[in-house]
Amino acid sequence: HKKKNIVILGAGYGGIMTTKKLQKMLRGHEAEITLVNINDYHYQATWLHENAAGTLHHDRSRVDIKDVIDLDKVNFIKDRVLCIKPEKKTVKLERQEIGYDILVVALGFEAATFGIPGLEEHAFTISDINSARLLREHLEYNFALYHNEREKNSARLNIVVGGGGFTGIEYIGELANRIPRLCEEYDIEKSQVRMINLEATPSILPNFDQQLIEYATNSLEARGVEFITGAVVKECRPDRIIYEKDGKEEEVPTMTTVWAAGVKANSIVEKAGLETIHGKVEVRKDMRAPEYDEIFVMGDCALIRNPDTGTPYPPTAQIAIQQSSIVAHNVRSLIHGGELKDFKPTPLGTIASLGNNDAVATVFHRYQLRGWKATAAKRLSENRYLLKLGGVSLLMKKGKFNFFY
Ligand code: FAD
Repeated sequence: HKKKNIVILGAGYGGIMTTKKLQKMLRGHEAEITLVNINDYHYQATWLHENAAGTLHHDRSRVDIKDVIDLDKVNFIKDRVLCIKPEKKTVKLERQEIGYDILVVALGFEAATFGIPGLEEHAFTISDINSARLLREHLEYNFALYHNEREKNSARLNIVVGGGGFTGIEYIGELANRIPRLCEEYDIEKSQVRMINLEATPSILPNFDQQLIEYATNSLEARGVEFITGAVVKECRPDRIIYEKDGKEEEVPTMTTVWAAGVKANSIVEKAGLETIHGKVEVRKDMRAPEYDEIFVMGDCALIRNPDTGTPYPPTAQIAIQQSSIVAHNVRSLIHGGELKDFKPTPLGTIASLGNNDAVATVFHRYQLRGWKATAAKRLSENRYLLKLGGVSLLMKKGKFNFFY
């Protein structure tokens, strides 16, 4: 019979790990495996806030696909996915259209701006390598410009981060590391710089315990971060951000608004006509789309609920990586006629870094970690991933080994 054509869209956490597993599980005569990704590199999305602050060069975060995938076994296409046509079982790319028998959609996330005026046009996001290095350059350029303008413009030195969730806090923590160095480099007094976090709800880091929230707040405030909670962003302009607090409109002059208050699934998923909830596909237990037996959806494009509470799991790299085992197994079963397994997430914990080798963590729902212990836990999990992805050589090249300082 004809070889089955497996197509994997996206080489993020979910896509690349699924591809890696399939290249091991299937032999060449059984199936054709094709991986499509917009770049010829995979990146550690969980390090993008460091790239965007300039505390870690983006080359550390990216990994050449050819270094971790066997291109004799996998057909790699570097192209942009434009749309999926489930009825025709094809995917339209910028430069060609390809067919599939089995499709894995792992196209990740994009920023959600909720229609707030000006955000789309004027705010920066931290969503991929391109946006992260643009933001890093922009920060530096504004510091460089400051002394070159006759009329000093404080908006160049004010940085506003919208969103006190995971990404917003991790980013502002890195900024708190980076700003003192930029100040030294560009002869700017640190007291002239403002780092402001705007959060709409009454508290930052909504999923953490109160003690950890207080710890994080104190750690960041001690390094110059200002928190404004209960602040609802109304509009972003090139030179200011406008928000409402206690029924009053306020504004901060800034050339740098960073929008970190929301992510959504890649909009290609919704445009494909798949059944979605808030842009995500609520997949069956075996990770397939409800209406198509040959389409798997994973990572940030998939919605999975905690069976005990009914609430969706937050989108994380951790879940995307865990899903890759089940998706690969189930793809193989479709080809060999075996049983399909159900995906059951194992939440290991959440660790938010605060910069400066500080972090807060909740592990196994019970234990709280803070400071260097939380940082070490984060480094260990990141290193473990690199080891799985590219073995010892990748770990030595890209791993983080500064555990205790
Ligand atoms: P992604 O990793 O987003 O991969 C999607 C891939 O698809 C990318 O390679 C992209 O280039 C490619 N792609 C997108 N569109 C197209 C297209 N049209 N055509 C071709 N290719 C395309 N999670 C954690 O578990 N722990 C953390 O500590 C953590 N920290 C984070 C910190 C930051 C700053 C951010 C932004 C996120 C963090 N996350 C964290 C969340 C985590 O990064 C995501 O949940 C995870 O990346 C989702 O994995 P994925 O495989 O679904 O998609």
